[in-house]
Amino acid sequence: MGNPTAFKEIARDIQPYRDVEERLLDYRELYTEVDVETRQSQASRCMDCGIPFCQSGDGCPVSNRIPEWNDLVYLDRWEEALNRLHDTNNFPEITGRVCPAPCEGACVLGSVETPVTIKNIEYAIADRGFAEGWVVPQPPTTRTGKKVAVIGSGPSGLATAAELNKSGHTVTVYERADRIGGLLMYGIPNMKLGKDVVDRRVQILREEGVNFVTNADVGGSGENAIDATALRAENDAVVLCTGATNARDLPIENRQLDGIHPAMDFLRANTKSLLDSDLSDGNFISAKDKHVIVIGGGDTGTDCIGTSLRHGCKSLTNFELLPHPPEDRAPDNPWPQWPKVFRVDYGHAEAAQRFGNDPREYCLMSKGFIDDGNGKLAGIRTVEVQWTNVDGQWKMAEVEGSEKTWQADLILLSMGFLGPEQYVSAALEVETDERSNYKAAYDVFSTNQPGVFAAGDCRRGQSLVVWGIDEGRRAAREVSKYLLEV
Ligand SMILES: Cc1cc2nc3c(=O)[nH]c(=O)nc-3n(C[C@H](O)[C@H](O)[C@H](O)COP(=O)(O)OP(=O)(O)OC[C@H]3O[C@@H](n4cnc5c(N)ncnc54)[C@H](O)[C@@H]3O)c2cc1C
Ligand code: SF4
Repeated sequence: MGNPTAFKEIARDIQPYRDVEERLLDYRELYTEVDVETRQSQASRCMDCGIPFCQSGDGCPVSNRIPEWNDLVYLDRWEEALNRLHDTNNFPEITGRVCPAPCEGACVLGSVETPVTIKNIEYAIADRGFAEGWVVPQPPTTRTGKKVAVIGSGPSGLATAAELNKSGHTVTVYERADRIGGLLMYGIPNMKLGKDVVDRRVQILREEGVNFVTNADVGGSGENAIDATALRAENDAVVLCTGATNARDLPIENRQLDGIHPAMDFLRANTKSLLDSDLSDGNFISAKDKHVIVIGGGDTGTDCIGTSLRHGCKSLTNFELLPHPPEDRAPDNPWPQWPKVFRVDYGHAEAAQRFGNDPREYCLMSKGFIDDGNGKLAGIRTVEVQWTNVDGQWKMAEVEGSEKTWQADLILLSMGFLGPEQYVSAALEVETDERSNYKAAYDVFSTNQPGVFAAGDCRRGQSLVVWGIDEGRRAAREVSKYLLEV
C-alpha cells in the first residue's frame, strides 16, 4: 500500500466514455484513452484492507487479487500487475470492458465512501499489456496425448480451452456460428466490446495450440451438423459450454405481426452485417426512422437501445415491468452485496441526450400488439402495474384505468433467457435440472454422463462473462483430474 492516506485525499474518478454525440455516429468502442497518471492515483485509493471483500464472496467471481495489482499499478510496475491479473483471469481485457464490477459493490472503501475504480484499472493494465507486447502466446511445453472437445466458444468455452491447453491436453472448440466468441462476438455490440479485441485473444489461443472449428453444429440436424455421440467417442472428454440461448418470448395478442423481434435476432444480425460489410449488405433489422420500443432491460435491453440509436431511430422507449430502482441501497441490500440501485448505462445516457429524457418507463405490463391492418406492427397496448410487499413477497396487480397505447413500428423483446437449447443434451443423454439447465454441480461440473462436463450459462443460466470465465477455469481443473483417471 504505497499511499496509506490516498483514500481520504483523492476522489473517485471514472475513466469517461467518448462524447455521446460523437460516439452515436459510429460503432467504435465507447472508451477513451487511458490517462495513466489518473489510473495510478486512483489505484492508490485502495486501502489494502485486511480482508479484501472485493476479491471473493460477493466480489470478484474469478477472485482477482485486486489490492495486489492496485499497489503494483501505483508503484508503476505494470508488467507485474498484468502477470498477477492473468494468474486469475484469462481475459482481463474483456472483463475490463464489460464486467458490471461486483468487486466495486463489495469494495470496503465503498461501505463508507465511493469505491475504488477497480474495473477501469483492470482495463488499463490489460490494454497496456497488449500495447507493450507483454501478452504473447505461451504454448505448453509437453502434450499429454489426451483429447478434449469443447462445444461452444463463449467466455466459458474459451476459458475451459485455455486452461486445458495450458495443461497440455489437445483441445478443439466447436462453434456453430461462423465466428468464435459466443456472446462476446454476436451478443455484446462492438461499441461495448470491439470484435478486434475478441479476435486478438482467440488468435493467441490459436497460437498456443487450441484448435477451432466454426460452422459446427454439434448434435444439430442441418448441413453443418456434427454427430454428438461420435464426437464423444473420439475424445477423452467433452465440455458443454453452449450458453443459455433460449430467449423468453411475449405470447400476447398479435405476437405474429411483422416488426416484433427477439433482441438477439436484432443484435446478432447487426454485428454480423457490420463485420461482413460495414452494414452495406443490408442483412440486418433496421431501426432507422422507426418508433422503437424495447421491452425489458438489463445489458441486452441497453444494447438494443444503443444499436437502435446508431441506426437513427425516430423515438425510443424502454418498458420495465419492475419499479424504478432506489437511488441508494435499500436496507435489505446492504454492503457488500451487489447494489440494486438506479444506474444509467451507456444506452440510457445516449437516448437521454438524443431525445431529452431517460427512455425507461417503469411498472408497465404489455397487453397486446396493435395491427396496422396489413399484418404490420403499429403499436402496443399496456397497463400500469403496482407492486406491493405482502409478508416479504412482492405481488403485482394491474392498476385499473391505466391502459395506454403506444405507437411503434419496431419492438425488440429483451426479457431474459430460459436456459440452454436441449438438442445437444438430448443427443448425449445429459440430464437437465428443474430450470432446464444441464445438470452438473458447481465446482464439480460433471454431468450424469462420464466424461461429459458442463460449464457457463448452460449450467448456471444466463449470467455474466466473468462467471463464464470462472466456470471455464474450474471445469478445466475437474476435467484434468478426470483425465488422470481414464
Ligand atoms: C446482448 C447481451 C449482452 C450482454 N452483455 C453483458 C455484459 O455487458 N457483461 C457481462 O458480464 N455479461 C453480459 N452478457 C451475458 C454474457 O454474455 C453471458 O453470460 C456469457 O457470454 C455466457 O458465456 P457462455 O460461454 O456460457 O455462453 P455464450 O457466450 O452464450 O456462448 C455459447 C456458444 O455456444 C454455441 N453453441 C450453442 N449450441 C451449440 C452447438 N450445439 N454446437 C456448437 N456450438 C453451440 C453458441 O453459438 C454460442 O456461441 C450479455 C448477454 C447478452 C445476451
Ligand atoms: S473481473 Fe469484474 S468483478 Fe473481477 S475485478 Fe474485474 S471488474 Fe471486478
